[in-house]
Amino acid sequence: MKPAPFDLIGASDPAAAGRALAAGDGMVKVLAGGQSLGPMLNLRLARPEGLVDVTGLPGLTAMRETATHVEIGAAVTHARIEDGECPEPIAGMLRHVAGGIAYRAVRNRGTIGGSLCHADPAADWVTAMTALGASVVATGADGRSREIAMTEFMLGAYRTALRPDEIATLVRIPRYSAEARWGYHKICRKVGEFADAIGAFVADPVSRTCRVVFGATGGPPFLSAGLAGHVARTGAPAGLAEVREVLAQSGLALSEIKIHQLAVAHRRAVEEALADA
Ligand SMILES: Cc1cc2nc3c(=O)[nH]c(=O)nc-3n(C[C@H](O)[C@H](O)[C@H](O)COP(=O)(O)OP(=O)(O)OC[C@H]3O[C@@H](n4cnc5c(N)ncnc54)[C@H](O)[C@@H]3O)c2cc1C
Repeated sequence: MKPAPFDLIGASDPAAAGRALAAGDGMVKVLAGGQSLGPMLNLRLARPEGLVDVTGLPGLTAMRETATHVEIGAAVTHARIEDGECPEPIAGMLRHVAGGIAYRAVRNRGTIGGSLCHADPAADWVTAMTALGASVVATGADGRSREIAMTEFMLGAYRTALRPDEIATLVRIPRYSAEARWGYHKICRKVGEFADAIGAFVADPVSRTCRVVFGATGGPPFLSAGLAGHVARTGAPAGLAEVREVLAQSGLALSEIKIHQLAVAHRRAVEEALADA
């Protein structure tokens, strides 16, 4: 099937893109790598009257390191991160996560900002960025920007905190010390597929950070302070039965098999992180 007709709207900067969104009153959408939006257009599940391509906007393909953060433009592709073009906030984690997304053709076009804004519960960046304590910088039609913590950015499946006239311009990730550890374990049936379950773990003794995150839960990533505390206290993941119990009591609608997959993903992520500690 072919997409319904739409106009391609030019924008010179993020504010102009925001103005196009505002003028479109819900009928104009942002186009980034098109890897999620393209299929929806082709199936006519989305029928926008206009698309604003953000991949050429100033700043959106830049990456930089400050004293405290790594900043990645929203239109940076998974492939550029996989190829090591991006500074790492914690040794090797971004490259690992990027390289596990789909297959190379998707990674060549798909962008980190597109992935976060699409807010698929099974996507990799939403979970990885939550584990890293990242935030999304959004810019509106008036040119003003605001920073939204990942824990507040994804509101539900395919729902974000972006306002109708805002686009994501940047992802900001705190930098971790050389002693920091991470683990990221994705369970999927076939290579190149979305996750059935994700376990993510980030810990840094210098900043006294310890995060345990579960992804592909059907909604936003789930953070467990209790399980993070267990690892911080004991230097090992909690037993499978204990993790299953935490997930069962989480209020998330999780099947038995999903709970098992998440518990296993968590254990492997923590074990990978602490393997040579
Ligand atoms: C076969 C296949 C397998 C895949 N497997 C995985 C996988 O294993 N893991 C994974 O994480 N992902 C996977 N994906 C998704 C892929 O990572 C996409 O690249 C990503 O979800 C969307 O990024 P995009 O740049 O293509 O965005 P687009 O498809 O262009 O846009 C997606 C949505 O986000 C909005 N949007 C995009 N950019 C912005 C912005 N800057 N500001 C505001 N809104 C914006 C768009 O309006 C649209 O609603 C897969 C995709 C395919 C086709």
